[in-house]
Amino acid sequence: MLTFRRGLHYVGDWHTHPQAVPEASGTDIASMSSMVAASHHELSGFLMIIIGTLPLPQGLWISLHRPDGEWERLRIVAI
Ligand SMILES: [Zn+2]
Repeated sequence: MLTFRRGLHYVGDWHTHPQAVPEASGTDIASMSSMVAASHHELSGFLMIIIGTLPLPQGLWISLHRPDGEWERLRIVAI
């Protein structure tokens, strides 16, 4: 809780996959859904980032997982 008082908040998780273009597994989705539902926080959801073997951004997966179990994949848009 010391980190929370310092303004540091858990916002999600990241890991790597041995895929060129990573896709979240069913285990990944279930894990994030249970983690965000069981957590006490003021965020609207947690982020999951998966890094594949292609250079970024091609080898990147980002999704937002909400406490109600809904999730969506986020896309990177260059501006
Ligand atoms: Zn995974």
